Amino acid sequence: MKTALIEALKRWSGAAFDRGRALLSGDRLFDLRVEASTLRGAARGVRQAWYAIELELDETGEAPRRARCTCPAGADGRCKHVPALGLAWATTPGRFTVLTGIEARLHRRSYEELVSMVALMVRTHPELEALTLAPVPGGHREAPSVTRWRTVADDVFRRHGDDWTAVAGLVRELESVRSLGDDFNRQGERAHAAALYEGLMDSVVANASRFPWPDVRSRFRAMVEQCVQQLPGRPAARQALATLESLPLLTPRRSPKSIAVA
Ligand SMILES: [Zn+2]
Repeated sequence: MKTALIEALKRWSGAAFDRGRALLSGDRLFDLRVEASTLRGAARGVRQAWYAIELELDETGEAPRRARCTCPAGADGRCKHVPALGLAWATTPGRFTVLTGIEARLHRRSYEELVSMVALMVRTHPELEALTLAPVPGGHREAPSVTRWRTVADDVFRRHGDDWTAVAGLVRELESVRSLGDDFNRQGERAHAAALYEGLMDSVVANASRFPWPDVRSRFRAMVEQCVQQLPGRPAARQALATLESLPLLTPRRSPKSIAVA
């Protein structure tokens, strides 16, 4: 608990402070990030879906230096969202993603720079194109869609083929799709996370029969189990696991001697 910062926020925000504190309960704030002494985050809005908040602290880390917010009252940083962001940092810093290295560098790039950078990456690594079809954590723009994520995962299977030598790359790529679900969860975007887990799970179950080797199947099983855990109360998730278990396997004796699943 950073008491000095809370006092400084009261002085900074005046009457807006209490309204800011009221925003802390519930899930009004999301996508919280800290880079060096700058806090950033988003707040669900009324006139707009969300507002972007930024609060820079001074060298002591205990007082605001400058702030701004994209809400109608936030140009000089005196709206209720700024103390809400500061209070979240003062009381629950664990909610903030610490930006260092590549993430911090990317956050300094302009929108246009990021677009050309991603276009270049897709030209160099065409397998990344599928990710541009789906929402990403912190994107705020698209509705959660199970079908989208099913398409992304199906595309991963299609590209890798069903030769067992390609399995290591296949599993690694599916794992990185699954880890995006964890990123969605960390940012409080639970509906997006659930859509991803469900689409990925459906795709793995639908494609698994082409991979009859027990060690590959156990990797798929672990992945589907992780998705099922994230989808509590959905009978379809349990059913997916049962379907996967029921698919025929090659006997271990006939499976290739060493399957390079990294
Ligand atoms: Zn604001």
